[in-house]
Amino acid sequence: MSTTDHLVTECSKCAALCCLTLAFDKGRDFAFDKNPGEPCRNLSGHGCTIHERLTQEGMAGCVAYDCLGAGNRVVQEVFGGRSWRDDPRLTRPMTEAFAAMRELHKRIDLLRAAGACDLPAGDDQTRRELLALLEQRHWSGAELNDFEVGMALEIDMFLYRLKPLLPAEFEDWA
Ligand code: SF4
Repeated sequence: MSTTDHLVTECSKCAALCCLTLAFDKGRDFAFDKNPGEPCRNLSGHGCTIHERLTQEGMAGCVAYDCLGAGNRVVQEVFGGRSWRDDPRLTRPMTEAFAAMRELHKRIDLLRAAGACDLPAGDDQTRRELLALLEQRHWSGAELNDFEVGMALEIDMFLYRLKPLLPAEFEDWA
């Protein structure tokens, strides 16, 4: 088991991937529209120029968002600390890797939550093995691209089969 908890978000080790990658619509949580892959108008380098007053500026959605550590893991583990800011050719692969890592970390979160349930021993062993793979593998961009159509599906089917044993938080998911 890694000594790092991958689900802990560390914005200082990221490259503002959420502020680059995610789309949002003007409304209650956001003051304007933003397209996916478009750097936010409030972004300077890797920092938010309105960070201290996001809610007052109508950007409560930014305050509420948590990538579950996906951004820092992508930048540090997949791209060795590099940034799309320094090399624009990285913009697309970084946004794709971020999207896949968010899905991967969502599965880590779900598999951990399933561990609090009284699972049959064989299923709990499978859960532990899947979790170890997600947490300990050093993922490459290519492997992340394959994740959603491969291993994510396998995990989803595993969790779906266990659904009757899982808590209410799984209701909306599977
Ligand atoms: S307002 Fe700030 S935190 Fe929100 S997306 Fe833009 S730069 Fe990021």
